[in-house]
Amino acid sequence: MRTLLVKEVAKKVWNFIEDEGSGHQIDGYLICGEERAIMFDTLQEVTGLYQKARELTNLPIDVVISHGHADHFGLATQEFVEAGCKVYLNKLDRPMVAGRLGKELPEDFFQDLEDGREFDLGGRVLKTMLLPGHTPAGDVLFIREEGLVFSGDAIGSGHFWMQIGTTSLEELLEGVKRLKTEVTKWGREIRILPGHRYQSPVPLGFSYLEDVEAALQGLIAGTLQGEPYTMTLGERTIHCNRLSHGLLREFLYDPERIKRP
Ligand SMILES: [Zn+2]
Repeated sequence: MRTLLVKEVAKKVWNFIEDEGSGHQIDGYLICGEERAIMFDTLQEVTGLYQKARELTNLPIDVVISHGHADHFGLATQEFVEAGCKVYLNKLDRPMVAGRLGKELPEDFFQDLEDGREFDLGGRVLKTMLLPGHTPAGDVLFIREEGLVFSGDAIGSGHFWMQIGTTSLEELLEGVKRLKTEVTKWGREIRILPGHRYQSPVPLGFSYLEDVEAALQGLIAGTLQGEPYTMTLGERTIHCNRLSHGLLREFLYDPERIKRP
């Protein structure tokens, strides 16, 4: 039985959690400013997100989808669309959501989400950085002044899946470095709020980014190597490699997709 849990994790930032009952959880975030709000991800199957958001704020809401996987672009997206909210998703991830919500989605269903787009919520500005890897165009939203980084699955949540996509580790490393360079400029500790918070026993911050970067550099240079690992995903059997490195407790990747094609 899937349930929706909601808790405030920062000032006017609510974590919407889909609890699958099996221990697995999915995280979305309602982020409010003084004039507007953003719903970052719509979870998977639980409904009533729009109504819950309305209990917390009466500001106009835009929906931003971190990436095209089914557990981040959920059934509740329709609730926001029916209420007149815009939905942002980068065009490269759109083929993944085709046919979701039980119908073909019209071309104008989404607003494109470009790298660098800013959402001015009033007293709080969320900036977008695209970070390809887990999917063709995963995105990260951040609030520089508060050190908050909403990352979906783009850098994992302590567990990080790179075995199911098409992007190389070299290309992923480029994005991770770019994010690290950005947050280093802020001169403060950061707080990463990812798509599956329960997967890490400790809150994720800058040192997690360092561990992800070091793991990728080691795998690319050949100084680190994962163990062969087999997993099932629905009806698929996936053969990949598994590595653990610091706070990156489990990194799954395709050993054939290390170098840029
Ligand atoms: Zn994902």
